[in-house]
Amino acid sequence: MRYQNSYAKLDPRLYHKQPPTALDNPRAGHFNLQVAEQLGWSEDKELMQRWVDIIGGHYVPDGFEPLAMAYAGHQFGQWAGQLGDGRGLLMAQVLDNNDTLQDLHLKGIGLTPYSRMGDGRAVLRSTIREYLCGHAFAQLGIPASNALGFVVSDTPVRREKMEAGAALMRVADSHIRLGHVEWIASFAPDLLGEFTDYMIDTYYPDCRDSEQPVLSFLSAVVERTARMIADWQLIGFAHGVMNTDNLSITGSTLDFGPFGFMERFNPAWINNHSDHTGRYAYQNQPAIGYWNLNVWLPHFMRLPGVTRETLADCLAPYETVFMQHYQQGLCRKLGLPHEQVSLGLAFDWLSLLEDNLLDYTNSFRALLGLIAPDNYPHEKQLLATLTHELSAEALTVWQDWRKRYLAQIATLSIDEVIENIENNNPVYVLRNDIAQRAITAAEQGQFDEVDRLYTLLATPYKVQELATVLDSSPPAPNAPQMPISCSS
Ligand code: AMP
Ligand code: MG
Repeated sequence: MRYQNSYAKLDPRLYHKQPPTALDNPRAGHFNLQVAEQLGWSEDKELMQRWVDIIGGHYVPDGFEPLAMAYAGHQFGQWAGQLGDGRGLLMAQVLDNNDTLQDLHLKGIGLTPYSRMGDGRAVLRSTIREYLCGHAFAQLGIPASNALGFVVSDTPVRREKMEAGAALMRVADSHIRLGHVEWIASFAPDLLGEFTDYMIDTYYPDCRDSEQPVLSFLSAVVERTARMIADWQLIGFAHGVMNTDNLSITGSTLDFGPFGFMERFNPAWINNHSDHTGRYAYQNQPAIGYWNLNVWLPHFMRLPGVTRETLADCLAPYETVFMQHYQQGLCRKLGLPHEQVSLGLAFDWLSLLEDNLLDYTNSFRALLGLIAPDNYPHEKQLLATLTHELSAEALTVWQDWRKRYLAQIATLSIDEVIENIENNNPVYVLRNDIAQRAITAAEQGQFDEVDRLYTLLATPYKVQELATVLDSSPPAPNAPQMPISCSS
C-alpha cells in the first residue's frame, strides 16, 4: 500500500500515538475484497493473510502509525467539550487506486486518553450495522465511510446485557470532523492556521487557486454538507446522531450508529431511540446541518481576512444548494425533468405516501410497475401491494395522481423515464429488520446472512434472485418500532 501518514506529522497536541489493545481470540466476520482492491491491500500477501490479526489488534504492520485523534463537539445541541477517539485509532493513511487519500481507522480497539467513561470497545451488533451500511452507501453512490472488514472476539463487552466485542476497520476519505476545529478553538487556538492549511492542502487543494483559500474552503465544506444531506433525504436515510463530532469536513457520511432507512413514510420519524426530543428526526436533518455549520464557522474568525460578514456569505448558499440538489433528485426519482410541474407531482406523491403510511423505498420503485409492468414483475407486485393498502378515498387520490403523472410522462422519452426511475430508486436498502436478522445469526456464530446481505446490497438497484420477500417488506403500518439506541 502507498502509505502517506500525514496526520501523524501534525502537532502532537492533536493526537496520542499508541497501539491497539488486542481483542481476545478474534475471528473473521466479513472481509470486503472490493475495498481491499481499492486500497492496494489485496496486493500484499501478508496483509491478506493476517487481516484478522490486524483488525483484532494482534499485529501492527510496518507502515502503520496508530494514533487516537483529539476532537470536541456539540452533542444534541449542547457543547460537550473534549471528546476524541475513545475507542478507535487512525491506523494509517494510504493513497488508493484513484490517488485519493484514505484513512484506515480501527474501531473498537481499546482505551485511549479520550475514552472518558467508555470501555473502548464496540459490540458485534453495531459493528455489523456500520459495516453493511457503509457498503450499502458505497453502492448507492452516496459519499460515506466504508470498511475493509470486521472481526468478532471472546472479549466480553457490557451494554444493556453482555455482548461480544468486535472491531471494524473503517475506511474513509477523512476522519476530520467539524469537532476537530472546535477542539482546537478551545484547547490549542494557536494551531488553527496550520490545521486549516492541512485541511485545504489535503482535502480541498483546488481552493489554493482561489484568492481567498480559507473562504473558498469553507464554502466548499458548506456545499458538500448540503449535498450529502440532500442525498440522505432522497434515499430516506436518518443518521440519528448528527452531532458536530459526527460530521466529516469532506461531506462524507461518518459514524453509522443509530441510523435507519425510512420505511413507512413519516417525515417526523425518529430512528434513534435515545433522541427523546426528535432533534435528529428525518425532517430536521437539513436544518441541523445548517445549525452545525453555523456553530462551526465562527471559529475561523481568528484567521486573517475572515469576518462575520464573509462567513455569512459562505453559509448563505446552504439552503439553495440543498434545495436544488434535493429537488433535482426528487424529480429524477420520478423519472421527470426538474421543472415546476414535476415538483408539484413530487410533493403530491410524498403527501400520498405520508397520508397512507406507504413504504418509501417500495413506493418509488413501484412506479416501474405502473409504467412497464411486463418488464418489471417485482415492481408490478409492489404496485399491487401499494394500491391494496389504500382506502377507497385514498384510491381516488391515487388515481387522480396517476392520471396526471402518466400524462406528464407521455410527453417524455419512455426509455429515459424508466432508466431514471430504475437508477435512482433502490430495490433494497438496509432496513432495521434485515440488519437485525444478520446480527442475530452472527451472534450465534453464523456469518452467512451478513455475506448474503453484502451481496444483496452490492447491486441495490437490481432485483436479485438471492433476495427473499422479507428483504423488501416494510413492517406492518402500526407495528411498534424496533429500538435502536446510541448504546453501541
Ligand atoms: P458517538 O456517539 O459514537 O459518536 O461517540 C461520541 C464520543 O464517545 C466519541 O468521542 C467516541 O469515541 C466516544 N465513545 C463512544 N463509545 C465509546 C466507548 N465504548 N468507549 C470509549 N469511548 C466511546
Ligand atoms: Mg462519533
